[in-house]
Amino acid sequence: MIGLIAATAAGRRAAAELAAAWPGRTAVYDGPVAEAVRRAFAECGQLVCFLATGATVRLVAPLLVDKAADPGVVCVDEGRRFAVALLGGHGGGANALAADVAEVLGAQPVVTTATDATGIPGLDTLGLPVEGEVAAVARAVLDGSPVRLDADRPYPLPALPPCVRADAPADAPVLRVSDRTAAPSGSPAATLRPASLVVGVGASRDVPADEVLGLVEAALADAGLSAASVAQLSTVDAKADEPGILEAARRLGVPVVTHPADELATVAVPNPSAAPLAAVGTPSVAEAAALADAPGGELLVPKRKSAPEGRAAMCTVAVARRAVRGRLALVGLGPGARDLLTPRARAELRRASVVVGLDQYVDQIRDLLRPGTRVEESGLGAEEERAHSAVRLAREGLAVALIGSGDAGVYAMASPALAEAGDDIDVVGVPGVTAALAAAALLGAPLGHDHVSLSLSDLHTPWEVIERRVRAAAEADLVVTFYNPRSRGRDWQLPKALDILATHRTPGTPVGVAHGVSRADEWHTVTTLAELDPTTVDMTTVVTVGNTATRLVAGRMVTPRGYRWQQ
Ligand code: SAH
Repeated sequence: MIGLIAATAAGRRAAAELAAAWPGRTAVYDGPVAEAVRRAFAECGQLVCFLATGATVRLVAPLLVDKAADPGVVCVDEGRRFAVALLGGHGGGANALAADVAEVLGAQPVVTTATDATGIPGLDTLGLPVEGEVAAVARAVLDGSPVRLDADRPYPLPALPPCVRADAPADAPVLRVSDRTAAPSGSPAATLRPASLVVGVGASRDVPADEVLGLVEAALADAGLSAASVAQLSTVDAKADEPGILEAARRLGVPVVTHPADELATVAVPNPSAAPLAAVGTPSVAEAAALADAPGGELLVPKRKSAPEGRAAMCTVAVARRAVRGRLALVGLGPGARDLLTPRARAELRRASVVVGLDQYVDQIRDLLRPGTRVEESGLGAEEERAHSAVRLAREGLAVALIGSGDAGVYAMASPALAEAGDDIDVVGVPGVTAALAAAALLGAPLGHDHVSLSLSDLHTPWEVIERRVRAAAEADLVVTFYNPRSRGRDWQLPKALDILATHRTPGTPVGVAHGVSRADEWHTVTTLAELDPTTVDMTTVVTVGNTATRLVAGRMVTPRGYRWQQ
């Protein structure tokens, strides 16, 4: 919940606007401000104070406990010009909240956290828990002084600045990426903890939580592994409601994942035994469950039993390490303009450590990349090679963004990439505004009823196939958007396609031509099937042909939705 506190009429108006914009997410704290701030601070995850920063500082100062637990606090000035992230920029989410508040109120977000302001990722924004001497290592990163990167394995992290590298001097501060515990080395060290470990647990009915937790902790400690890297406890379905296991998981802060006994029985394990086979129907629970949730991974700690004093053991555990899974984001950049690039696409570009794409698309977004992002750019025609290298880099465990204009899945790189990608990498698709939609918005409302996109490029598709589809669209009276309509070497396809459509549509059918949509050289025109001059069309153009109901209204293409009130 976001607590809203205001002292003046203007502040109360702004608070009411936020409350209206975010129904269910905010609570207005009325009454004397000191008391209101105190209550909101205790009850809310975040605060927006419509007060001066000085007043807010004095009010929250006595309430502060701990960076990890305190709410994020944002201040908005009386003139609502600025939304200032005052406290809890990362942990409390105040930086992001300041941006959101600014968006609603038309204010400017003010973020002073060094790492956000400079575009260098804070160590706590890399998507992994971080521990150790975080402030000292983060300062070195910000200063641009050498920091030694010491990663067990490649992990799909966002780009790190160039000063963070494996071959930095031995006495430099260290950024570790590891699920292992390490002895202090003398240099300041911070450790990012990947969620790489799966702990398999077997237990008898009514096992005490302390026995489970004690055994898990001992197994990890003896193997030199960190509990902060445990992703989950895994067990057999029959133990899904075993209180001791659930409580141990709760205390570790991880979920419990269960599997049917017959599934676990098929997992090859080093130490099968008769007892669980009789009790739950699989010769292994701990080892089999750990391995089942770490496909392609390795068993680090074979089954071991608890050793309670004076009675029989009630618990077994085993620890497996997951194989590294790289991350491939397929990111559509939209038709060209920066404000048609979605916030999600922007976030994925900053999530990546490698960007793969056509040189002209890379140029479009280079300024958005984190410092240190590796760029693999290639020229026109190297599609296969781009798809291949994006998948190969993701397989190496990296966070890769494969970019394309418009939508990355529309006549673009997503299909060749996914045709090659196996289930050993994570894939994230980010939709983009495709040319047909960007053009339609310029032309009016041509896509108001059923429509189809057709590419007229016969470089990879035989012309007979294209022609058959144009014919089908003509017969079905679909609105048609032609991609790749015409280039220097391909000049007869568009007239031919229009001729086919003309067999089912009148010469006066509206046709929209949109060139370089949302780019510096944008132009568009609405004409008719009979009057379109194909020589005005080139490769950065889409051509949208209306159906038999499409009309021109005040110069705009309008395809009725077909409702009776619109006939
Ligand atoms: N993935 C892209 C399409 C790639 S095919 C998308 O979703 O938009 C390339 C064709 O798209 C071009 O020949 C042209 O027909 C069309 N196109 C791409 N961007 C365009 C733009 N900004 N304006 C007009 N047409 C565009």
